[in-house]
Amino acid sequence: MSAPVRSAGSTSATRAAKFAIKTSRRTELRNITAEVAEFVARSGAVSGVCHIYVPHTTAGITINEGADPDVAHDIELTFDRLAPRDAAGYRHAEGNSDSHVKTAIVGSSQTVFIERGRLVLGTWQAIFLCECDGPRTREVLVRIVPDAAA
Ligand code: ZN
Repeated sequence: MSAPVRSAGSTSATRAAKFAIKTSRRTELRNITAEVAEFVARSGAVSGVCHIYVPHTTAGITINEGADPDVAHDIELTFDRLAPRDAAGYRHAEGNSDSHVKTAIVGSSQTVFIERGRLVLGTWQAIFLCECDGPRTREVLVRIVPDAAA
């Protein structure tokens, strides 16, 4: 797939970005808040929305607690309990039905508001790439839609 990213120098170059995240485990919540926040800062957007999307069927995006890493661990543990890798009855021949199920629960995107040039996240919130069939290299697409100038 071709990325909806313009070359540097174009006006919208700073409004869309794509970055690769290399995961290291089969089920893994990876905190990508710093990468997204850096892009928002570089974009110069003062207010608007920031969409974070992954073009994958076995990886998703969620927002949850980033302060205590045990929360991400416990979510990973629960995903694996909810959708065991070898549950009876799966038909999908690839053998990764559990990965698709976990991703369906999580979803492919999140939207975060931008105010005063920064992501509007609660004190404990972080943006996570949810790897459900790793380790792999995943693409994360970020697009900023600034508010129209008043
Ligand atoms: Zn599959």
